Amino acid sequence: MTTDKLFGTNGIRFIPGQEYGLDFIVNMGLSIGTFFKGNNIIVGFDGRHSSPSISRAISAGLMESGKNVISANMVPTPSLQLITKTSYDGGVMITASHNPSEYNGIKVISSNGIEVSRSDEKIIEDVYSQKNFTKKTWENVGSINSNSTVITDYINSVIHNVDSLSIKKRKLKIVIDSGNGTQALSAPFIAESLGCEVITLNNHIDGNFSGRGGEPTPKTLSFLSQSVIENEADIGVGYDGDGDRSIFCDETGTVFWGDKSGTLVAEHLIQKGIKSPIVTTIATSQIIEKIALKYDVKVYRTKVGSVDVSHKMMELDSTFGFEENGGCLYSPHVAVRDGAMGTALMLELLASSEESLSTRLSSLPKFYQSKTKFVCPVDSRQSIISKIASSLTETIDQTDGLKILWSENSWSLIRPSGTEPIIRLFSESDNQNHLDQITETCSKLVNDLINDL
Ligand code: MG
Repeated sequence: MTTDKLFGTNGIRFIPGQEYGLDFIVNMGLSIGTFFKGNNIIVGFDGRHSSPSISRAISAGLMESGKNVISANMVPTPSLQLITKTSYDGGVMITASHNPSEYNGIKVISSNGIEVSRSDEKIIEDVYSQKNFTKKTWENVGSINSNSTVITDYINSVIHNVDSLSIKKRKLKIVIDSGNGTQALSAPFIAESLGCEVITLNNHIDGNFSGRGGEPTPKTLSFLSQSVIENEADIGVGYDGDGDRSIFCDETGTVFWGDKSGTLVAEHLIQKGIKSPIVTTIATSQIIEKIALKYDVKVYRTKVGSVDVSHKMMELDSTFGFEENGGCLYSPHVAVRDGAMGTALMLELLASSEESLSTRLSSLPKFYQSKTKFVCPVDSRQSIISKIASSLTETIDQTDGLKILWSENSWSLIRPSGTEPIIRLFSESDNQNHLDQITETCSKLVNDLINDL
């Protein structure tokens, strides 16, 4: 019997009431409860309109399977992952991260704080599809209690994991754009505790993400950029809807992708003496290899998705990992992506010298990048990518989607999104003209095949 795949790149994503109703959620709670061995499961949720109802339905399923539920209420995703690691047998986070407001999702978290592995996702899918639930009788159903210290424990852990004294001495000014997401509950307090002057934008929780949407990108963060310039701040940061991704802006107002901030933090940690391997995905810039090579530190690449990065970090006993979309993973805290931990590490990096962030960025090798996306039906994406792969004579890497290695310093990656009906195209080159050329070539290949559907 084949089981329908429910988990995407980061958990299960869906539009509540359209794709799945509450019966699905309760049965998923039963499936997750059946899967977990331990008894105490913490449940948290993001600021979406549908999150409180979904978290209660998941909790009902978990209790029906005999688990005791601890309710964390509304929290940033990384804070739930941290508390799961320190105190519980498992966790469930209700969030659709940066997706539009109508979406929601379910993330299942192991006792080490990391999302369950791909093979464990398959076990949960099998329990669900075969309705092979553990169901307890009325006297054996689980209890429900709450934990109100999740966010303070998280704030304390982030502060404890950086050199707070040296950050305080530097008296940095930061603009924080929480994007109406849950990092509003923690990041400004962390920055204040680290002695920063803090200016906030979109810092009220709003399930419509009415400020600038839930996804931080150079395009959506133009107001952040403007605010950094006007306030003469040292740094700006924008978070996604559930607070696990951070995109930064330097003091000149330039917003840059996570592979640059990730590489800067990686170099800073190496200079502090951390020489463990660095883990990133096949979609990030090659600048990390150029930097790591200088210090004889190894770089490992995984499929796209922070779950793969987290698991590889555990396997390699790695301290640091990152993603181009602003994921920053620091294992002494918890080996999952964390917007506030990434911010604290960037503040520590700035405090380690008198140099500005733009000066630090200009020290990185120069590469040009382009990112675009194409709307495409979910079922047609793989065949389009396979057709492109078979039509090429260049060297290709099919770890995840299709990576085309055009030359030593130029590549393109065409891959289906794990969460949306789109195909993404990333390209990188050390030469702007060559970048334009390979981006145009790939766009034409994808567009022609979509038009033929
Ligand atoms: Mg997120």
